[in-house]
Amino acid sequence: MLNPEQDHIIALLIHVEGLVQGVGFRPFIYRLAKQYHLNGWVVNRTDGVTLKIEGQAKHMPFFVEDLRYKAPVVAQIEEISIDQDIPEGITGFQILASQDLTGETSEISPDIAVCPDCLYDMSHQPHRIAYPFINCTNCGPRFSIIRDFPYDRKNTTMATFDMCPVCNAEYTDINDRRFHAQPVACNHCGPAYSMTVGSEIVTGLPEIMDRIISLVRSGGILGLKGIGGYHLACDALNEEAVNRLRHLKRREGKPFAVMFKDLDSLKQYAEVSGTEEAALLSWHRPIVILKTIQPLAPGITLGLDTLGAFLPYMPLHHMIFDRLGLPAVVLTSGNLADEPIIIDNPTALHTLASLTDAVITYDRDIFNRVDDSVVRVIGAKERISRRSRGYVPVPVKLGFDVDGILAAGAELSNCFCLGKGNRAYLSQHIGDLKNLETFTFFEETLGRFKHLFRIEPHTVAADMHPDYLSTRFAQKLGIKRIEVQHHHAHIASCMAENGVDEQVIGLAFDGTGYGSDGNIWGSEFLVCDLKDFIRMGHFEYMPMPGGDKAATEPWRMGLSLLYQAFGQDILGLDLPVIQQTDPAIIRMIITAIEKSIHCQLSSGMGRLFDATAAISGICLHARFHAEAPMRLESNVISGIHGHYDFTISETVSVLPAVRQICADISSGVAPGIVATKFHNTIAEASFRMAQKIRDEKGIQKIVLSGGTFQNKYLAELLENKLVKDNFTVYTHARVPCNDGGIALGQLVIAARRK
Ligand code: ZN
Ligand code: ZN
Ligand code: FE
Repeated sequence: MLNPEQDHIIALLIHVEGLVQGVGFRPFIYRLAKQYHLNGWVVNRTDGVTLKIEGQAKHMPFFVEDLRYKAPVVAQIEEISIDQDIPEGITGFQILASQDLTGETSEISPDIAVCPDCLYDMSHQPHRIAYPFINCTNCGPRFSIIRDFPYDRKNTTMATFDMCPVCNAEYTDINDRRFHAQPVACNHCGPAYSMTVGSEIVTGLPEIMDRIISLVRSGGILGLKGIGGYHLACDALNEEAVNRLRHLKRREGKPFAVMFKDLDSLKQYAEVSGTEEAALLSWHRPIVILKTIQPLAPGITLGLDTLGAFLPYMPLHHMIFDRLGLPAVVLTSGNLADEPIIIDNPTALHTLASLTDAVITYDRDIFNRVDDSVVRVIGAKERISRRSRGYVPVPVKLGFDVDGILAAGAELSNCFCLGKGNRAYLSQHIGDLKNLETFTFFEETLGRFKHLFRIEPHTVAADMHPDYLSTRFAQKLGIKRIEVQHHHAHIASCMAENGVDEQVIGLAFDGTGYGSDGNIWGSEFLVCDLKDFIRMGHFEYMPMPGGDKAATEPWRMGLSLLYQAFGQDILGLDLPVIQQTDPAIIRMIITAIEKSIHCQLSSGMGRLFDATAAISGICLHARFHAEAPMRLESNVISGIHGHYDFTISETVSVLPAVRQICADISSGVAPGIVATKFHNTIAEASFRMAQKIRDEKGIQKIVLSGGTFQNKYLAELLENKLVKDNFTVYTHARVPCNDGGIALGQLVIAARRK
């Protein structure tokens, strides 16, 4: 079809699907057409971008090649279809008004960090000098402001701002960087900041900036409206301010994220590898979990050896750091305890104004709430653990149809997932559904996704857990419902992300998931495909004295595991968990275990980590989810290779290890050495079990999923062992391995079972 020798006039009709809207794609096409002397038009449609080009045949291959490979950095082209068309003698190249083909839909861009060109313009363009809402076709808010499709200004929360003549001239000038940049704005016509300090309202950015700088420098706490929600901010080196912030947020122990002025400042405080640097500087601008070199205020991480760090992504962040003279600011989500991050101005002023020294807001609405995303580099690969701003709503493309299926997700770190055609749209991080406000956020977001992507589900997939609020929600929908086992969903999620569609060995390690036998699972060795699974093995069950309480009180799991290893004798053990617990309570726990009173059985890897953290004296009481496993990992000393003993049959027993751990702790071996050898034990036992299953089933492909694999040391150790032994190992990257990724697994399993 494309013969470069020809210089006669031909026409092509090209349709491009993928992330091609709101990312400067049409101006790019325009410039490309000009470059190759082609005429025609381009139009945004709900199902992608369509263009017609006419011109000499010899130019066409170059145009198509550039279209594929020179597209704007944020664009992600998934499919290009090219058809010969009839030349109509079109003159010039035009961008036509968007067409709404209700029912079909293309992709919506995630929010994009402010670009270097815009930062430059802030000190050079007369109408945008120090304008904090500057943006262009390559950067700015997207998903957070979009109400409807297609992506045009009238369908965003910028609709209420009328462009001034200068902005309008740029918006309509095809040669301008802001041509069709939907949120285009300037000092004369766009959104503006205001600041509430007590009963005083401050307007005018110079005055607001002065106040921000002096407040942060003097230890103040600010409420600050971001892209996807409000933040709370304070000087990251001011211990008093950090502690006050912790108190205000009613957050006892969870580490705070810290925004650094720039990469150089960050490198003073944390180790940054090449992959980590790329993640930090990417337009997604996630929080990256890094290894600490030098602590900031101790109250930020409370003794953990890692730090959640990110770099400025809004113009105001840059402006603040330019003047602040400090290397880092705590920037934590503006919410109380477990509530969703605040997005609307009245709530912020009502809730945050009384808690903080000032609230800085602006008059453009955030429509879709998006928290900061979190990634960690494990095995030189960037892996997401909270998927929100900068990533959502890019879909996962599958090799098969999932149309009309809703997956309701898990409960604690809920994300839901909707299928359209062969695409899976995972929602942004929703949170813990047990919180009423969070559940409302879930329902509201589901409604918005259904509308934005034009999906009306006919089938719903949900977890088997009868008490998950997501499961109960699914039951009430009155459509066909498919129940999916939690750990099977974890593995299927990782398979779907990697395009694996055959029988695999699956290792699903996490804290809690409802098992098919009614017990709580969480260290599962499965053989499965996308339809069914067989449970091949697991780490041995442990009673959880006190039920759910055992998940937040590691000392209970410590006593449970000790009882299994030593029986009644545990009272005489020389261990911190025994010495620091009332003997009467220990006896009560023993009775509960012996008589199976309120003692559900769990094979949860998280519980085994809890127990070990307690036995080794590293963490007896947890103040936030997964604190004990995080502290155990934080104590790991690299370079220690030994492991403790274990036995493998149908199940893995670590009771020999428990006895060795107790002997080590009693004889004064450092808890860090114990923690390391424990990690090594889990990796070695898991590796041996995987080998056993491979020998039995002849399956080489192994899939790792579940929240435990957020543990960098364990994940790297186990993955290396498996790769060296010729397993083909699949892990998550773009989809969380924790319960935030489970909806994708539910979705594909439901599609296969339908
Ligand atoms: Zn820009
Ligand atoms: Zn303007
Ligand atoms: Fe899970």
